[in-house]
Amino acid sequence: MFGRRITLFKLFGFAVHIDASWIIVAMLVAWSLAVGFFPAQFPGLTGREYWFMAIIGAIGLFASIVVHELSHSLVARRYGLQMKGITLFIFGGVAEMENEPQNARTELMMAAAGPAASIVIGFLFYLAYAAGRDAWSTFTVGIVAYLAWMNWILAAFNLIPAFPLDGGRILRAALWHWKGDLMRATRIAAAFGSGFGLLLIMLAVFTLFSGNFITAMWWFLIGMFVRGASQASYQQVVLKRTLEGESVRRFMKTDPITVPRSTSVRELVDE
Ligand SMILES: [Zn+2]
Repeated sequence: MFGRRITLFKLFGFAVHIDASWIIVAMLVAWSLAVGFFPAQFPGLTGREYWFMAIIGAIGLFASIVVHELSHSLVARRYGLQMKGITLFIFGGVAEMENEPQNARTELMMAAAGPAASIVIGFLFYLAYAAGRDAWSTFTVGIVAYLAWMNWILAAFNLIPAFPLDGGRILRAALWHWKGDLMRATRIAAAFGSGFGLLLIMLAVFTLFSGNFITAMWWFLIGMFVRGASQASYQQVVLKRTLEGESVRRFMKTDPITVPRSTSVRELVDE
C-alpha cells in the first residue's frame, strides 16, 4: 500500500511514519491555503503572512490527523490488538493493525475513537476561536478557525459509512453485532464503500465538465482509493476466514440426501 516512507517519531510507543506522497500533499495544502483559503476568508494581510499562516495551518492539520490515528491506536491497544504504527499518506492517515478486531464491540470502539477525537479537537479550536475572535490578530484567529473547521471535516468524511472508512467500520460492527456474521457484515459494508467510491468518481466527471480540473482530479483519486480499499479489505477478510480455523464441515452439506444404488432415475424422480 505504501511507497517510500520516513519514520518521524514515536508517540506512546507507536512509530509515526510519513509516506513520500504526503510531502507533496502537505505542499499542495500549504499552497492552496496561502493563495486561496486564507486571503479569501481573512483579508487584509500580506502575502508573507499568508504563507506563515499556511505553514502553521498545514502543521496543525498534520498534528490533528496524528491525534485522530493515535486515538484509534490507543483504543485498539486497550482491547489487546497489536498495532504496527501510524502512517500518513496521500489521503490522510492509517493506523495499521497487525490483526483484525476479534468482536463487534472492539471494532466499534476502535472505529469510533478517531472521529470522536477529531470532533473534540475541532470543538476545542472552535472554543478558542469564539473566545479570541475579537481579541486576537487575524493571523491567529484564521489559523484557529481553519483547524476547527478541518477537524470537523475530517470527522464528517471519516464517518461516511463506506468501508474501510471509520463510518464503514462502525456500520460493519453494527451489522456484525446484529446478525453475528462477520463475512456478511463485511460484504455489505464493503459494498457501501465500493458504491461511495463510484459516486466520487461520477462526481469527478461532473466536476471535470464544470471546468474545475484540480478538484475533479482529487475526487477521482479519492474515489479510486476508497473503491480499491473496500474491495481489497473484503477479500482480505474472506481469505483470512477461509484459511483460519474454519472446519471443512462449514463448507459442506452435513446431511446430503442419499439414494440406494439400486434405485433407478425414474424411481428417484417419481418418489
Ligand atoms: Zn479514522
